[in-house]
Parts: sequence; structure tokens; C-alpha cells
Amino acid sequence: MTGKFEALSVETLPKRLGGTAALTERIGKDAGRWKVREVGDGNLNLVFIVEGDQGAAVVKQALPYVRLVGDSWPLPLKRSFFEYHALTRQERRAPGSVPAIYHFDESQALIVMEYLAPPHVILRRALIDGRELPNIAPDIGLFMARTLFRGSDLAMAAKDRKADLALFADNVELCDITENLVFSDPYFDAKMNRHTSPQLDGLVAELRADRDLKVEAQRLKHLFAANAETLLHGDLHSGSIMVTDTETRMIDPEFAFYGPIAFDVGMLLANFWMAFFSQRGHEEKGSRAPMRAYLLGVTAETWATFRAEFSHLWRTERSGMLYQKSLFEDQGDLLGAEQALDHMLHSIWTDLLGFAGIEVHRRILGLAHNADFETIADQDLRARCEAKALRFGRHIAVNRRQIHSIDEVNNLAALIE
Ligand code: ADP
Ligand code: MG
Ligand code: MG
Ligand code: MG
Repeated sequence: MTGKFEALSVETLPKRLGGTAALTERIGKDAGRWKVREVGDGNLNLVFIVEGDQGAAVVKQALPYVRLVGDSWPLPLKRSFFEYHALTRQERRAPGSVPAIYHFDESQALIVMEYLAPPHVILRRALIDGRELPNIAPDIGLFMARTLFRGSDLAMAAKDRKADLALFADNVELCDITENLVFSDPYFDAKMNRHTSPQLDGLVAELRADRDLKVEAQRLKHLFAANAETLLHGDLHSGSIMVTDTETRMIDPEFAFYGPIAFDVGMLLANFWMAFFSQRGHEEKGSRAPMRAYLLGVTAETWATFRAEFSHLWRTERSGMLYQKSLFEDQGDLLGAEQALDHMLHSIWTDLLGFAGIEVHRRILGLAHNADFETIADQDLRARCEAKALRFGRHIAVNRRQIHSIDEVNNLAALIE
């Protein structure tokens, strides 16, 4: 399909995509027999599952506006282009970690990809249900280390990275969403904000009057906007991960952008900490104490895996223009390279705590909330969970330079809870 953009519908999809080889080869040629469902539950796009005689595939299509808000908020279709290019890079850098991509149509802003069939579910859903997934920490830790290291000047040829940086620099509107919704809106009376009211009104006023917090949030925003370190996923929360007991796949990188390594890691860990603080609201069928312990374990193991893999890649794949081996290893100075690695891991750690704290705030005070808290029907109970998370977020963002280990953070979370 080429030509003018037109949104697909369940009714028009078979006719419009019936001639697309990438689809017919996989699911069957007789488009008249295709079964189509629209399952998009995200904030922005259409997602169709198409099933034919031979198999199934997913068709994801961008809309020229924000689905959550409607056509009063236009958003460019080219986000689909960035999602496609991010997926192909992630597959190269961390093989097997994203759905297989079959086809991209730029003018129709659509991507045809592997259908992650049941028992795949969205990780956030599984955590709300109290399921302990055994592999998520190592799988996600490896994904982050591999994509973030291999997309940076530590690994890439300078020329290639600069070309890539230029390509993704055009993802302006989605960056703008992050810049405003994550880093600024929670800290003033922005139009699209909402929070559990009146229960949280007092705490919200306190946070908006918190000078240290606001200055820190802006320092982090500056870091996000100005430190083009690596190709980020850009939206790596538990709603962008699909899991089974044994498999983990990252989806939905339309926010991909060159930014600080710590951003993806901090956003992801924040979502585990929010899952932790929300468990109290999901105890109808019994105590979630084991689930809480599991979630803190997941944060620790994810960070440990990230550190170990990042260190491994540092020692074995440091082929970019930064910290060249000619300065260290080639002169027999192994400790010099280790010293530089420690500095880098330390700054990733300090920054990820900041990003994590701010991410917690925006999911409770901003426009896009988390089902972890939203599905707690009892407003008072929900507000108690949210208040703990908000205080936790403030603490780790403001004190991030004085916090030295993930155990320290998890002890703090357990103490507040
Ligand atoms: P959005 O950008 O609108 O958030 P997502 O890419 O997150 O869209 O997809 C929305 C939903 O569609 C996901 O939460 C998931 O339920 C479903 N989905 C997306 N991609 C796939 C896939 N490859 N296989 C199965 N389901 C998918
Ligand atoms: Mg999504
Ligand atoms: Mg998305
Ligand atoms: Mg300390």
C-alpha cells in the first residue's frame, strides 16, 4: 500500500492488506477468511491481531493523534518509522528480545510483526495478578545492557552513531511528551494532570512546593534532553513487555531517542517499585507479602544483571571512540579501564535513581497512570499505596547521590511499605 494515510479498521484490513506478501505468506492467502480483532490497549496506536488459515500476525498502525485523548491532540505518524527502526536495532543488539518484524509501510505508518500469542501477557497485568515470573530480571537486565551499550559511542563507529543520532533526532514530538509529561507536569497544575482526590491533595501540594525536588527534576530533564549517549527504548515500563513463564519480549519503542543510559533503566525499575507499592491494594485473595519480596528481588537481580553484562561488554566489545583500549589495556593498564567502568556505572546508578523517582511521580500525578494503582477500586486504599510510592520517589530522586546500593533502596521501600 502506498499513498495517502488511511486508518485501518477491522472491516477494511483484509481488503487493504490482502495483497501484502509479508502477511499472506505467513497467515494465508485467502484474506476473505482472515479473522481480525483490534486489541490496542495502549495510549497511542491501533493494534490488530490478524488470524488466517496458516497463522497469525500483528498489525500496529499509528494514528495522526493521541488515541487516549482524541484528535484534539495531533501526533505525527512518523513515530511508526522510529518504532520500526528501533525494533530492527534492538533485534541486532539483543537478538530474540523483540517480536520478529515482517513488514513496514511508511506511508500507512504500519508495522507487521510477530503475534506474541497467549500465554504471552503484558508484564504489568501479570504483576497485578500476583504472578512471579522467574526470568524477567535476567532477560530485561541483558536487554538493557546490550541495547544501551551497543547503541553508544562505547561500541559503535563514531560515524555510524552520529548518523543514527541524526535519524532519531527527528522524533521531536514523542520526546516532547516525555519532556513535559514526565519531567514537568507533575510539579505544577498542568491541564491534563489528575490524581486520587481529595486523598492526595495535601501531598500533591507538598511536592509542588518542594524546591529541591523541582530543581532535581529539571536537572534530570536537562540530562535527558542533552546527554545523547545511546539509543533508548524510551518507554520501557512493564506495559511495554510481554511475558510467559519462560519468555520475555520488549515491545513498543516508538519513543526511541538518543538519551542517557540511565533513563531506560530508571524507568523500568520505577515500574517494579510501583508494582511493589501497589500490592497492598490487591490482597482480596490473600497476602501479597511473598509477591512484595519477589518484586524487590527482581529489582536487585535486574540491576545486578545489567551491571554484570555491561561490564562484560565493556571488557570485550569496547570498540568505539570512547575509552579506547590503546589508552588502557594495550599498555597493560587493566585497572585504568576498570576505573573508567566504575565511574560510568556509578553515574548510571546515581542518575537512574533520579529518573525512577520522577517516573513514579508522573504515573500517579500526571496524565498517563498505571493499571497497578488504577485497578485498586477502593479510593482510600489506592491513595495510601500511591502516597507511599510518591514519598519513596521523592526520597530517591532528591537523595540519589547519597544512596549507594540497590539493597539500600529496597530496604527503604520495605520500611515505608
Ligand atoms: P501503544 O503504542 O499504543 O501503547 P503497544 O505496542 O503497547 O501500543 O500495543 C498495545 C497492546 O497491543 C499491548 O499492550 C498488547 O496487549 C498488544 N500487542 C502489541 N504488540 C503485540 C504483539 N506483537 N503480539 C501480541 N500482542 C501485542
Ligand atoms: Mg504501549
Ligand atoms: Mg506506545
Ligand atoms: Mg548512604
